[in-house]
Amino acid sequence: MTADTLDLASRAADLDAADPLAAHRDRFVPSPGVVAYLDGNSLGRPLADTAERLARFVREEWGGGLIRGWTGDGPAGASSARPWMDWPGLVGDRIAAAALGAAPGQTVVADSTTVLLYKLARAAVDAQARDGRREIVLDTDNFPTDRYVLEGIAAERGCVLRWIEPDPAEGVTPEQVAAVVGPATGLVLFSHIAYRSGWLADAPAITRIVHDAGGLVLWDLCHSAGSVELELDAWGVDLAVGCTYKYLGGGPGSPAFGYVRRDLQDTLRQPIQGWMGRRDPFLMGPGYAPADGVRGVVSGTPPILAMVPLLSALDQLEVAGIAAVRAKSVALTEFALELVDAWLAPYGVEVASPRDPARRGGHVTIRRAGFRDLLPHLWERGVIPDFREPDGIRLGLAPLSTSFAELHAGLAVLRDLLAQGT
Ligand SMILES: *Cc1c(COP(=O)(O)O)cnc(C)c1O
Repeated sequence: MTADTLDLASRAADLDAADPLAAHRDRFVPSPGVVAYLDGNSLGRPLADTAERLARFVREEWGGGLIRGWTGDGPAGASSARPWMDWPGLVGDRIAAAALGAAPGQTVVADSTTVLLYKLARAAVDAQARDGRREIVLDTDNFPTDRYVLEGIAAERGCVLRWIEPDPAEGVTPEQVAAVVGPATGLVLFSHIAYRSGWLADAPAITRIVHDAGGLVLWDLCHSAGSVELELDAWGVDLAVGCTYKYLGGGPGSPAFGYVRRDLQDTLRQPIQGWMGRRDPFLMGPGYAPADGVRGVVSGTPPILAMVPLLSALDQLEVAGIAAVRAKSVALTEFALELVDAWLAPYGVEVASPRDPARRGGHVTIRRAGFRDLLPHLWERGVIPDFREPDGIRLGLAPLSTSFAELHAGLAVLRDLLAQGT
């Protein structure tokens, strides 16, 4: 080993020794054969507590309470005593407090991110169209589902799409937004953290610019929630949607969350008028009348079972605190850049993420021709990053489950493969 390599190994050990969140790693289910899991931004790892909690839920709440679980009337002790009917708002409020910087009563858990994006975007577009505002602002680098949903809404409602083209290694800037918004702006939708580059958009500044032009803004928080500190209420955000299976650790296919600022809840109407978002759903009455508040965002039966793992993950996040999570996230991505510069840059690997930690989210993307062919070799050696077309490897560093030594070990394998000319 060179002195440089020894130095980086001891740096990793020092960083782990000083990490106040280190103990949280032991709470996850072990993954045999995995040297480095560098994809916690796509699918968080399960907590050991989740397995027990799911079994208990099946035994006591589902098996013991049966249909009574919906109203919280199960046998004493069998239920966590909160009616399943109320879970969309109860779990939504916990996400809001732990991760979103939002007061209660503005967040629900429901549907998938894609479906919630559609529902909230359509609600905003319809409200704005009444004032003659028919333009939707979006960017070419946004996650495909966001672009497709807006293209569909534009076709459905006769809106004009105004595309921003961001720098692919960065993301949307306030200046770019200021240049396209105006009296015709209805809705503006961006990802707060770009799924490719990891660019952390200036959400408060962009929200202000959109509001000054009379538009509404919808933030996609898929890569932000549970990773960076958010202040939705303080920033005056109108609408937000995010998934819970990435940094929030809710498990494969766990439902999404949606945020609607309190003072918009009476005016915005989402298009899927289902019985579970109706006032007094069990009256089964004629005609649709939305429930008060954010509950009206819900359409059908809440995915109760799919929220159970999220409860364990939220327990953990509430103890850790999002500020400490973000601090470790910055330290992890800084260390990743240090390793890339020392070990991989000599092989022509480029960093396609912001260098400024204030503008960088929880992942780092690196690029090199031929990275696609390298991926199976990494997986074979127990190193699991993410790949993004055309030639990007994304290092997703979930702070609660990733150690500095793990990151070091994973990138050492990548370095060795490059050295062998694989
Ligand atoms: C992961 C992700 C989604 C996922 O949408 P689903 O409906 O859960 O498949 C949407 N938007 C962004 C920005 C994402 O990163």
